[in-house]
Amino acid sequence: QSDIPETNVDVLIIGAGPAGLMAAASFAHLTAIPSASPLSVRIIDKRSTKIFSGQADGLQCRSLEIFDSLGFADRAWKEANHMIEICMWNPDATGIIQRSDRIPDTIVGLSRFQQIVLQQGRIERFFLDNIQKYSGGAIKVERAILPTSLQIGEERVKVTVRKLTEEEATPPQATTGSKSDATDGLFRSNLVGDDYEDKNITDAKGEEEEVINAKFVIGCDGARSWTRRTLGPEFELQGEATDFIWGVMDIIPLTDFPDIRMRCAIHSANDGSLMVIPRENRLVRLYIQLKEVTPDASGRADRSKITPELIFGAAQKILRPYKIDYEYCDWWTAYQIGQRISPSFSHPSNKVFLAGDAVHTHSPKAGQGMNVSMQDSFNLAWKVGLIAKGICHPRILDTYQSERRRVAQDLIEFDHKFSRLFSGRPAKDVMDAEGVSMAEFKDAFLKGNLFASGLSVDYGPSSLVVKSGDPGELGDRSDRSRNLEGVRRITVEEFEVKQSLAKGLPVGMRFNSFKVLNQACARPWHFQERLKADGRFRIVLFAGDILDQAQKQRVEVFCDKLSSSNGFMRRATPEGAKIDSVIEVLTIHSARRTETELLRDFPDILHPFDPHTGWDYNKVFVDDESYHEGFGDAYKNYGVDKEKGCVVAVRPDQYVGWIGELEDFEQLQEYFEGIFLV
Ligand code: FAD
Repeated sequence: QSDIPETNVDVLIIGAGPAGLMAAASFAHLTAIPSASPLSVRIIDKRSTKIFSGQADGLQCRSLEIFDSLGFADRAWKEANHMIEICMWNPDATGIIQRSDRIPDTIVGLSRFQQIVLQQGRIERFFLDNIQKYSGGAIKVERAILPTSLQIGEERVKVTVRKLTEEEATPPQATTGSKSDATDGLFRSNLVGDDYEDKNITDAKGEEEEVINAKFVIGCDGARSWTRRTLGPEFELQGEATDFIWGVMDIIPLTDFPDIRMRCAIHSANDGSLMVIPRENRLVRLYIQLKEVTPDASGRADRSKITPELIFGAAQKILRPYKIDYEYCDWWTAYQIGQRISPSFSHPSNKVFLAGDAVHTHSPKAGQGMNVSMQDSFNLAWKVGLIAKGICHPRILDTYQSERRRVAQDLIEFDHKFSRLFSGRPAKDVMDAEGVSMAEFKDAFLKGNLFASGLSVDYGPSSLVVKSGDPGELGDRSDRSRNLEGVRRITVEEFEVKQSLAKGLPVGMRFNSFKVLNQACARPWHFQERLKADGRFRIVLFAGDILDQAQKQRVEVFCDKLSSSNGFMRRATPEGAKIDSVIEVLTIHSARRTETELLRDFPDILHPFDPHTGWDYNKVFVDDESYHEGFGDAYKNYGVDKEKGCVVAVRPDQYVGWIGELEDFEQLQEYFEGIFLV
């Protein structure tokens, strides 16, 4: 009989970097979903503090949309530097760098947000505040806690953890020797060996132990993930490293280079490449190719040779004839370019999952690491939460691997191509086969911009996404066919008919945003603002021209079925809970706002009545002109017929899951019956 204390929780998150914090925040937002007992979530990290400088800084459009659905995009938007234009600098005929091109940083019209840059530590701060606010203090990061063993049982996963001493929980850092007292990020870089960071833990004495019995464990513990290693060799990252070594410095520059406040991709004739990322607080991040450092026979570069002086010397050479110097350096590091991915993101038991750097690593220049990592756990957390609350069918967990591994694979391929084009020497002319064509580089940059925005993610068919095509895979495992359970079979022809009802809302992609007006108060909203990440599915009813009698009748028939006591909405909603507590119906109609009345023209289920708070005035919207913010032209932009409308089912993470006519109620019901424990 052991006297180690034991605790039961629904979810244990290991690691409080961007992926772990996104998971914790997503769970905190599920508090409004009814359940017999509140969701219990713990999040542990072996470090004594969050990070304060360095590491990731780029926030892509999709991440900002997600932050907005959690309620803190405004903080990031205000504090960050906004990336508006990219300048390409290449050598001219005499070998001197010159500006050769300008392109917009974010493709115009893609999202209501554009790419911004802000230090990772600030983003972690926003998450911590958001988690505190939405969980009412119930979820907080427990620091200086190290997991030491993990066993997957029938019911629960048993994780033993140990409290670390302050000394153990603070990583050793090399002295910088730089002009300023900059933080050195080398200790977390991929240039150090696997066990370097844990060296001081192995010898240390902290003894206090606890056993945490969790229904689900999510490993968000970074590139050297303990969780991944504990799950076994079949989870090991696979991929390759290159010989390209790059340095990173966050400095306040003193320079005559004209584009220092623009994002720049600079290829010098012979001294390597450099990327300029203008940052908040006068900082500029430089990514600098280090031609002087190459990996040894073991494949790893000697990191003792890498100093801020060496990195900065390389930058000065690349930027010649322009001059650059600095007095203040905030952070610096170096890394070796490589792309690696785990064959599996989830244990076959569907009780342990891996997210973020724990399952995919690549070079940071495309600014993807933090974004894709957060989007992994954003995809996973609502699924785990709704299952732990007994609301959804466990089969939806299979979609985590089939959806996110494909995204990671695309990222690895993109990074492979992009980083090689960036690190290559520019071709002198068309005959120079070893050099990189700058036209090809620009083309890759332009195509990469769509990918890098996070908005090209397109999930395959599954129990959550009704479309034709390849359902994705579960990795190289014997139970590969599991994710086919619950996949709605639909032919290419059937799918084309459904998709044609809303061409601007591709099934499997995130619900795009256009402005609509609240029917009750005329206030303009970006429609996506109404799709909060609170764990609820949504049915978006494009009601069409509600003033047309035939159309009004179609809407009424649809709503009667929705409200019926044996319909899926009632059956999916726990007894005693409000009708919109797990599936919310939002309406956009296309008649004139001033000629329609909320209570007269729209059935009750579209604006449910509560005896304490009255009618719900925030669910019916109109595609009409606003007084002050123009016309969103939502029906046209979503590609929906203004007379007849259509119905769209949206997942809690804003991805489109199903499209149909108002008469396709049975198919809609089938979709939800495959997801909910009705
Ligand atoms: P991490 O941020 O690594 O978080 C993992 C967390 O788990 C950490 O808090 C860690 O303390 C904790 N942890 C680790 N092991 C354990 C354990 N055994 N038990 C408990 N807790 C544990 N991305 C960019 O986009 N641009 C950049 O310029 C950039 N530069 C980078 C420079 C460096 C040196 C590094 C390391 C990364 C850089 N990245 C960059 C990548 C980016 O920081 C990551 O992609 C992102 O942080 C991934 O988030 P994550 O939560 O998956 O992992």
